Order: sequence, then C-alpha cells, then structure tokens
Amino acid sequence: MEEIKADILILGSGGAGLFAALHAYDSNPRLKIVLATKGLIGKCGCSRMVQGGYNVVLDPKDSVELHFKDTIKGGAFINNQELAWTLVNDAPKRIHEMETKIGCFFDRREDGRIHQKPFAGQSFDRTVHRGDLTGIEIIARATDQVFARDITVLEETRGLELLTNSNGDRVVGALLMNIRTGQFIVVNAKAVIVATGGSASMYKISAPSFDKTGDGMAMCWRAGAEFVDMEMLQFHPTGLLAGKSRLSGSVLEEGLRGAGGRLYNAIGERFMERYDPERLERSTRDRVARAGYMEIMAGRGTPAGGVLLDMSHLGAEFVESKFPGMCERVRDIGKDLAREPVEVSPTAHFQMGGVRIDVNCYSSLKGLFVAGEDAGGVHGANRLGGNGIADSTVFGARAGDAAAEFAQSQNWVPVDQVQVKMFTNNVLKFFGHADGPDVYQLRDELKNLMWEKVGVVRTGQKLEQALKRLAEMSEEVERAKLPTGSLRGYNLALNEILNLRNQLVVAQLVAASALYRKESRGSHYREDFPETDNQNWLCNIFMRKKGDGYFIETRPVKLTRLRPEDVVAK
Ligand SMILES: Cc1cc2nc3c(=O)[nH]c(=O)nc-3n(C[C@H](O)[C@H](O)[C@H](O)COP(=O)(O)OP(=O)(O)OC[C@H]3O[C@@H](n4cnc5c(N)ncnc54)[C@H](O)[C@@H]3O)c2cc1C
Repeated sequence: MEEIKADILILGSGGAGLFAALHAYDSNPRLKIVLATKGLIGKCGCSRMVQGGYNVVLDPKDSVELHFKDTIKGGAFINNQELAWTLVNDAPKRIHEMETKIGCFFDRREDGRIHQKPFAGQSFDRTVHRGDLTGIEIIARATDQVFARDITVLEETRGLELLTNSNGDRVVGALLMNIRTGQFIVVNAKAVIVATGGSASMYKISAPSFDKTGDGMAMCWRAGAEFVDMEMLQFHPTGLLAGKSRLSGSVLEEGLRGAGGRLYNAIGERFMERYDPERLERSTRDRVARAGYMEIMAGRGTPAGGVLLDMSHLGAEFVESKFPGMCERVRDIGKDLAREPVEVSPTAHFQMGGVRIDVNCYSSLKGLFVAGEDAGGVHGANRLGGNGIADSTVFGARAGDAAAEFAQSQNWVPVDQVQVKMFTNNVLKFFGHADGPDVYQLRDELKNLMWEKVGVVRTGQKLEQALKRLAEMSEEVERAKLPTGSLRGYNLALNEILNLRNQLVVAQLVAASALYRKESRGSHYREDFPETDNQNWLCNIFMRKKGDGYFIETRPVKLTRLRPEDVVAK
C-alpha cells in the first residue's frame, strides 16, 4: 500500500481546500502539503457553482458591524458570533488577496471601484461578483496558483477515514482511496484539514454537486469530533424541476424574485399572499421555500410536484437582458423563462450545521482542522446568500495558516497499522457481497425519506420515523451487493456504497438534532412547534459520538457581540 508522509493533508478542493493549501504553503514553502480531492481540481464542488457572488465590506459607507448584524439576524441569533465576526472582518482581506495576488477580476463600476450588487437580507449592496460566474473566476485562478506551487495534488482520490492515535484524541493522518485504481493510500500527516463541503445532496431535490456526499462530516464524526446545530439545513425556494434531468434541483437565482418574479400554485393562486402578504415573493428564503412546499403538500402543486415561477409579466426583453444565464439554463430543458411560467420546487442547498470549530478552524480533536461547509456555527439557522463563498475562503485561509503553524511545532505521530487494516477491510468486504441490498435503491430511498420526513416542514413523529428507518438502512448498506467480478478501478457501485454510508451518518445527525430542537427557527421548521422560542431555545445543539450512539446537549448561545434585543430596540 502506498504511504505518504506529509506535514499537512487537505481533503477537498473547493474554496476552503484551495485557500487552505495556498495559505499553508505561503506560511512556509518547506512544508510538504498534500491536497486530495474526490473530483478534478478546479472542476468539482460547489464553490465553482457560485453565481451570485461574495459578500464583503468595501464601501466606506458600509461597515463590518452592519455586515455582522445582517449575518446574525439572518442566522436567527444562534450563530457563533466570534466566527461570524471573523467572517466579516477577514472577507475584505481575502477579496484584496484575490485581486492582487491570485489574479481574480471582479466586475467594476465606471469609476474603477469593484461593483457590488444587492442580495437578500443585506442592509447594504455588498456582493462582489464576476458577471454570474463568480465561482469559476475564483476557483480557476486559485487552482492556477496551487499548480504554481510545490503542492502535491491527488485528483479523483477520496478521503475514506481519519486515522487517530490509540487514545482517539489526536488525528494522525487519513486513509484515502484512488478512485481511478481503487488502491488505498495511507497519509501520515501532522495536521489534516477537512474541507469536503457538506451533504445537502442527500435530499431528493438538491442543488450541490454530486461529488459532495457528507464524506468529511462522516469521517470527523467517526473519529469523534464534536458537531453543532446539525438540524440547520437550508432549502432554496426556486430549484428548477426538470424530471430526471441533472438540472432538476439546480438553483434559479434569488434575483428573479427580487426583480418581480411571481409564484403561482397549479390552480393559479399567487400563494405568497397567504404566507407573507407584505413581502410576497420577496420574503426570506426559508419562508418562500416553506410556502412552496406547503402548497405542493396540500395538493395544489403541479403534476410533477412543483409550483410555477412566472417572469413573463416583466417583459421578455427585460428578463433576457437581466438574467441571460438563468434564461439559458431554462432553455436547456426546453422552456422559456422570459415568456412562460417555469416549474420550480424548494431544493436542498446548504448545510449550516457541521463540525464545531474555533476561529482558527481547530476542531475538538488535536491535529484536525475543518473549514467551509463541513464546519458549523458561522451562519446559525440560515445563511445569507453571498456569505457561503466568503466563509469557505476566509476559513480555508485560516485553516491553512493555523495548520502550518501547528505542523511546524509537532512531530509525526505514527499511524496505527491495525486501524488501517480494519478500515481497508471495511471497504474490501463489499467485493465478497455477491448478494445483498441494492445500493441504488437504498440511495433513492434515502433521498425520498429525507425529503419527506426531514425536509422543509418537520414534525416529531416524522423525524422519529426517519430515525428508525435510517438506523435500519445503515445496517443494510453494510451488506450492499457489488456485481460479481467487478474491478477496483472506477468502481461506481463501490463508490456509491461509500457515499451512502457517509450520507446516512450525516442524515441521522440532522434528523436527531431536528428532533431535539423543539421550536422553529430559520431553516428549521417544526409544524408541531411552529414558533421561535428564545426563552428556551436560544441555544446551540452539540453532538458527539458515544459508543454506537451519540451524546447530545444544548448550551446557551454566547451573545458576545449582539443580543436579539439590541436589534429589535433599534
Ligand atoms: C448552485 C449553488 C449556487 C451557490 N451560489 C452561491 C453564491 O452565489 N454565493 C455564495 O456565497 N455561496 C453560494 N453557494 C454556496 C457555496 O457554493 C458554498 O458555500 C461553498 O462553495 C462551499 O465551499 P467548500 O470549499 O466548503 O466546498 P465545495 O466548494 O463544495 O468543495 C468541496 C470539495 O470537497 C471534495 N470532496 C468531497 N468529498 C471528498 C472526499 N471524500 N475526499 C476528498 N475530497 C472530497 C469535492 O470534490 C470538492 O472539491 C452556492 C451553492 C450552490 C450549490
């Protein structure tokens, strides 16, 4: 088995992984840095899918205090305020770095200043963008920079498990698998940075790229890291509905509703009049998503299970000139966004919950750093559009800096070969399963189950039912069959099994935490507890592994900088 010794191992090549690599290397170019990514570098993950843009304070009339306040209000006050404060303070540094060091070009105003556009939930227009392809600009340039440095890149190589010392409190590396060959790689690293980007793809209708299947979160969970607010998962209100096409679930951007787009149910009612008569379609993401979902569940949806987004009253010329990318996307499924209503549905978009970190991305396990969507706490109960890519670059950079400092002060802790053997056997065992449950059926069942029972509208009863079935499915996936004689290289069924195994871990954390929080807040809506309850639930939910089960507890939110009454009072 191939063995690599590295100072720092990074898993993932989205905004968080790439910025971690660049910062770690630039902190000390003598460090041996290995970046392993499940997809192709520059082409995978969600950072490159970012269209809307990047929230950052650049205008002297704006302030980090305002950006912070918007972020905390958006997060319904359960954000980790120190993480949110770090986000808003570091974002200007990252944008400056991108323009001066990494080579990104963002759209500019006539006077030469960077153009900033409005985005939902913001008290100032602060979203930096490159047309509607902002993510590609950032990721392509950052990837070039990684190639320009002496960083070892392992593409189509997935992290399987974190390796720990005998006490289980120190991460000493990771077991990887080269997807192309199916061969294992052991990396003995002083520091490991996990940046694999969450697991929203475990829902029937979802927006993220398919390579993201909760691998990092599941690895961190199995290794014993502490998690926070796993119930918080964001649904975007307008995911495209396109049958079995991959485009189903892809986001039709918020600007469409902002510009005057209307939502109708199948019987022609402008249903937002019932849910938020004042703001109608311009209501917040969580409310519009919930309203659409309730219409569909009440039988007022389209036959395909959606509602209708109509832009046609705004005039085709206006829609086509303002939203060329969106029009093109819809044209791909044979529809005309500028001239006819288009079927949409809420779509699972982003995980706010994740591994608990501090401002330098240290997790609760020594040697383990986590950044980007795998980490929790920055966005509380709801993420503002534009704060996601800011999060991954800000905390990716911090993880790189911190891991470099850590690695320089540490020696390698040897890998436990018994543990490696156990983990490899736990993968190779599937080659002996000529018979057993079908992984694709289980995968589809998971997506439906999460959608119906752990989705936009939750109840205690549905969550309990989901938890029961998820536990059974976790056993079933361990018996899943692989076609007899299948090869190890590019084994799609094996990779699907490994994906599903991880998604089931994350799904159970989301469902358990959602059952625990007996109130509604931000993206988490309980039909049986529909009100926000600051008296009892202005707290975070922490979980960690305990034997085969888990330990769960609440701790009051640390309101270190802003309290709910400060905002209401002003
Ligand atoms: C359609 C869409 C539009 C969006 N638009 C915006 C926007 O306009 N503004 C905004 O701020 N945010 C937006 N977001 C959110 C934003 O994309 C995320 O917040 C951010 O990109 C997450 O960055 P990340 O580095 O954590 O993960 P990602 O960029 O998703 O990267 C994850 C990486 O991990 C790799 N990986 C996965 N599993 C493994 C494994 N086992 N081993 C090794 N590598 C692994 C993947 O291949 C990938 O390279 C959008 C999201 C979507 C889905």
